[in-house]
Amino acid sequence: MIKVLIFDLDDTLYYEKNYVLGGFREVATYLSSKYNISIELLYDRCLQILEKDGRGKIFDIICEENKFDEDVNKLVSIYRDAKPKLALYKDSIEILNWIKGNKLKSGIITDGYNKVQWEKIKSLGLEKIIDKIIVTDDYGEGFGKPNKRSYIDMIKFFNVNPKECVYIGDNPTKDFIGAKEIGINTVRIIREYGDHINAKLDSKYEAEFTIYNLNEIKEIIFND
Ligand SMILES: [Mg+2]
Repeated sequence: MIKVLIFDLDDTLYYEKNYVLGGFREVATYLSSKYNISIELLYDRCLQILEKDGRGKIFDIICEENKFDEDVNKLVSIYRDAKPKLALYKDSIEILNWIKGNKLKSGIITDGYNKVQWEKIKSLGLEKIIDKIIVTDDYGEGFGKPNKRSYIDMIKFFNVNPKECVYIGDNPTKDFIGAKEIGINTVRIIREYGDHINAKLDSKYEAEFTIYNLNEIKEIIFND
């Protein structure tokens, strides 16, 4: 029987791009006032580069194109300090309420820069709702998913068997392989938007179940 539902954060419980866009706006605002260029122009260019090349080198490209004499690390810290208003997906709220109503337990395991991840968690109000939150970056380097440490700590915290847990995430490259190795049930959520919705990997990376709305987890649990 499933007792604990463990979630990934980004693109599983909320739409991460809203966070990214909020960060771009802060950086565009800073550069705009320093170099007297339109915020919208800079912001739109960030989006274009994101669509074309993904994250990673966006601020380097912006500085190069505009000949800004800027320390990119400074821009990264402005991006990370941004506190955009975030909102949970509707079905995230529904399933978290359902978990509470059914006396089940909830957890989050999330990778990413710890300061940023905790800000997101706070902004989404998850500290008050989720029973155990692990930001893998708090362990130090090398413990991000698929490393098994966070999954094992989660099981120990709730004092349950892996089979009594389910991990729900969106990214097959790292969300399921570690969880499966220790016997945690796995569910992939595919949403309308997100960086990994089209990823198709070898079966050892894939979750046992695929869903399109978090409420579908109820059926999986009832059929368990
Ligand atoms: Mg994710």
